[in-house]
Amino acid sequence: MEIKTVGIVGAGQMGSGIAHVFALSGHDVVLSDMSSDALSKAVALIDRNIDRQVAKGKVSAEDKAAAMARIRTTTKLSDLGPTDLIVEAATERESVKAAIFEDLLPHIQPHTILTSNTSSISITRLGARTDRPEKFMGLHFMNPVPVMQLVELIRGIATDEATYKTLLGVVEKLGKTAASAEDFPAFIVNRILVPMINEAVYTLYEGVGSVKSIDESLKLGANHPMGPLELADFIGLDTCLAIMNVLHDGLADTKYRPCPLLVKYVEAGWLGRKTQRGFYDYRGEVPVPTR
Ligand code: NAD
Repeated sequence: MEIKTVGIVGAGQMGSGIAHVFALSGHDVVLSDMSSDALSKAVALIDRNIDRQVAKGKVSAEDKAAAMARIRTTTKLSDLGPTDLIVEAATERESVKAAIFEDLLPHIQPHTILTSNTSSISITRLGARTDRPEKFMGLHFMNPVPVMQLVELIRGIATDEATYKTLLGVVEKLGKTAASAEDFPAFIVNRILVPMINEAVYTLYEGVGSVKSIDESLKLGANHPMGPLELADFIGLDTCLAIMNVLHDGLADTKYRPCPLLVKYVEAGWLGRKTQRGFYDYRGEVPVPTR
């Protein structure tokens, strides 16, 4: 099946990046969010990010104009009705995602494939609540979407082969590389990455190191391009906590218990870069550690 039009639900950091790559690769995009403010910020961000690609000579000015013209925005989920593929990229909370799919179902066509960009929630469970678990999959992009090469493809128990093959083709058309993961909590990348971040927060919580020494240690000692606390701020501390909770609940192993300090930062609303404060304070010229 050929995918021509793509609906995206959620215009945050991920939804805007996903709209960017689909529009640039020739798909018509309908980007939706319940917040019109999020939609205008997303379009401005996509515009700036494609400009950077133009400045580097990776995208022509004509291709940029064509991509921007392919993106429509809406606050109404019913406007996603005519699309061939829907990518849900709203907040990492199962009740939010389940309600979105429920609201979408009366409007979409029989052939429409439903996907979620969830970092950790069961694809089988989300799909089972829809009228088409065989056409439901995890399509997990990495942040920042225009830069990162990998897309994880997660089949639920009921996902059929035709849907999987169609999404393999979609990932190829985006110029990205697919990795297939089984539907277990947090799949492959976050199963490994987020417990490492949580351990870095424990290292901070127990006073083994400061924000600066922990990040420098992993950058210079393990050749990581970003320190784990810097990376946590980049992902969003609410998303990191949600993923730890899914691992803890789904695998029932205490090794996945979220660090109380991570919980505290989220309770404070210090969610990382997106709120200007997390393990670093981003309100000044340079990021300053908050501990
Ligand atoms: P975000 O907080 O930046 O954006 C979420 C957006 O969803 C917001 O704009 C919000 O207004 C919107 N939203 C919430 N409820 C909605 C509803 N009912 N209808 C429409 N829009 C709604 O979050 P994000 O970082 O973009 O994460 C989105 C999803 O992508 C999550 O499932 C997350 O786990 C996943 N993800 C995140 C990362 C990352 O590094 N941040 C990486 C891969 C996957």
